[in-house]
Order: sequence, then C-alpha cells, then structure tokens
Amino acid sequence: MPDKSDQLTLVAGGAGFIGSHLCRSLLEAGERVTCLDNLQTSRRSNLAGLGDYEGFEFVQADITAPLPSSVVSHTRRFHRIYNLACAASPPQYQADPEHTMLTSVVGTDRLLRLAEAAGARFLLTSTSEVYGDPEAHPQTEDYRGNVSCTGPRACYDEGKRAAETLAFDFARGGRADVRVARIFNTYGPNMDPADGRVVSNVICQALAGDPITVYGDGSQTRSFCYVADTVDALRRLMESDSGLLEPVNLGNPHELEVKELVELVLASIGRPAEVVYRPLPQDDPRRRRPNIDRARSLLGWEPKTTLEEGIRATIEWFARELGQHVDSQVTIASLERLESRRKPPPAVAQPIAGRGAVAAR
Ligand code: UDP
Repeated sequence: MPDKSDQLTLVAGGAGFIGSHLCRSLLEAGERVTCLDNLQTSRRSNLAGLGDYEGFEFVQADITAPLPSSVVSHTRRFHRIYNLACAASPPQYQADPEHTMLTSVVGTDRLLRLAEAAGARFLLTSTSEVYGDPEAHPQTEDYRGNVSCTGPRACYDEGKRAAETLAFDFARGGRADVRVARIFNTYGPNMDPADGRVVSNVICQALAGDPITVYGDGSQTRSFCYVADTVDALRRLMESDSGLLEPVNLGNPHELEVKELVELVLASIGRPAEVVYRPLPQDDPRRRRPNIDRARSLLGWEPKTTLEEGIRATIEWFARELGQHVDSQVTIASLERLESRRKPPPAVAQPIAGRGAVAAR
C-alpha cells in the first residue's frame, strides 16, 4: 500500500457538472485528485481554480479507449475511483448513442479493472434512468424499472444498467470493492448552459427574455437535488463501510411538475415570460421521485438545500456566467454577449425532433 500522503483519488468525468464539484470537494478535504475527462460534454472552465491545489492533475482521455499511460503508471497509488464519465443530458447522450453505450459499458469495465489492479474502492454513478418510465412511485432501489431497450433513451438507460451489472459482478467475484449510486435529477452551478436539461434551459431562456420551452403539457414530474447535496452523498457512500451489494438512490424527494418549476424560476428572476409548448419527447418519464430511505439509514444523509435556495443560487451563477445582473434590466449589450456565448445545439437523434429548447437555444 502506498503511503497515505501518496494516495490518489481518480475522478473519471471530473470536468463535468457534478464531477467538477466532487473534485473541488475532495481537494478541499486534502485529497490528491486525478481528473480524467474527454471534455466531450464537459468544460475546462469547470476546473478553474482547481489547478491551484498541489494535488490536482488533469488528464484528457476517453475511457472507451485504453487508459493513457499517465493514468496506468499511477495504478498502485489509486485508493478511490469515482466513475462519473458519461454524457448525461438527453440531447447530449442521444447525439452519439453508440459512444454513450460504450462509455458506460467499455469505460466502466476499464475502470473496474483499474480498481482491481490498484486494490481501490470503486464508485459508479448510475442514474434514475435505470427505472425508465416508472410504474412504481416513488422509486425504491428494488424496483426493476420499465425501460425500453430499443428507444432513443436506451443508449443511456441500458448502458448504465449494464454498468451496474459489471460493477456488482466485480464485487461478487471479490475483484473490487464497489459502490453504486443512482443519481436523480441534479442541478446547480457548472451546468452547461447548452446541455438541454430543463433547469438550464428554463433559466437561460428566462435570463435571455426568450420564450420558455415546456415539453408536453408540463404535468410530468421530476425531483431536483442541489449539486452540493449530491456531492456530499457521493463522498459518504464512497466512505461507507457497509459492504452493501445494492445500489443507493441519491436525490431530493421533493417532487414537482415541470410547469411548477418554470413558475418558480420566473418568480425567482422576477420577469414574466411567454411559455411555448413542444411535443413530449419519446419515452420521456411521466413521474420521477426517489425513495431515499436507504441513503438516510446507510449514510445518515438527506438533502439540505431547498429548491428555492438552490434555484436562486443557480440563477445567480448562470447570470454571472452569461454576463447579466439578475436584479437589473437586461441591456442590449448583455443580451448580445449572452447570445454570442451560446453554443450551437448538439446534433440530436431524430426521435426527439420535438425538443424545442434545443432549437430555441
Ligand atoms: N423539459 C422541458 N423543457 C425543456 C427541457 C426539458 O419541458 O426545455 C422536460 C423534459 O421533457 C422532461 C423534464 O423536463 O420531462 C426533465 O428533462 P431533463 O432533460 O432535464 O432531464 P430528464 O429527467 O428527462 O433526464
């Protein structure tokens, strides 16, 4: 075993939305962090300031390919491996579905083998998408899900289900000490303004004075967890010593309709906006809310941030990111700056042709 001061934590997907917060949290706790990311859907700007920590290292690589020698050469030093690497918003993971599937399956297999060789503890971030369009509500971990294996979300849903299978097979075989988190909808600073998720779309549209896109009639529900709470739970799960061969739901049980979220964002920003309705994408889950009893009892964890607080903090972050002051009138200059900083929409697989926000961004 390497000396404790020489131990490394690997965060695959560490430049992404949740990954970047996790890297920061680990560094602040004094860990040495190797961040591995292909920058496909993540942004270097998420890593701003992390280079100031002596123990931080960034490696740009794609986990569907053999791991780079700069990672493999450290194998014996890794004592924790978090796998957050995968495009996670529906438009982004559907833009290259084959790569999404391979990231979850081939990529997770590579990282599990690394964990086995290193004797490192391994945490897979899975997803509420393994429940598909759920028939059980709220979703407990033993609900087996209602997932289409042929639809446009299958590349992500089935990829993550296969990744969970691999992780638990490694654990059953005594090859790696494994944790599996099923993360429900998460939001907060460092979300990509162009990733097409409902929270980022609605906030950016409202800040720009654009119409708000609601898919379907907006009565579908989600439960949103602030990113700091999610990161706290991930770290607790990694350090928990239960030997539990079961996944753990991580999310906020506060469930609301998409149209209620829109109302909350508009009220927080204090500006009215037109709402335009677009067709509901294929296989879009009607309801989603985690049962977090297992996380409560196993980790002593539950979310602390209310939706109102979290949305306010997220709006402030987006406003800064997009060069606006939330409390002031939007000026022509700030709108132009905002527009020029928006990325073109990713190519989206056809079945979600109705995703108006992608076109509207
Ligand atoms: N949605 C919406 N308007 C948008 C983006 C998304 O109404 O601009 C809906 C989407 O159809 C889904 C919910 O909001 O019902 C959450 O979508 P998101 O992409 O954030 O995550 P999901 O939970 O579907 O993975």
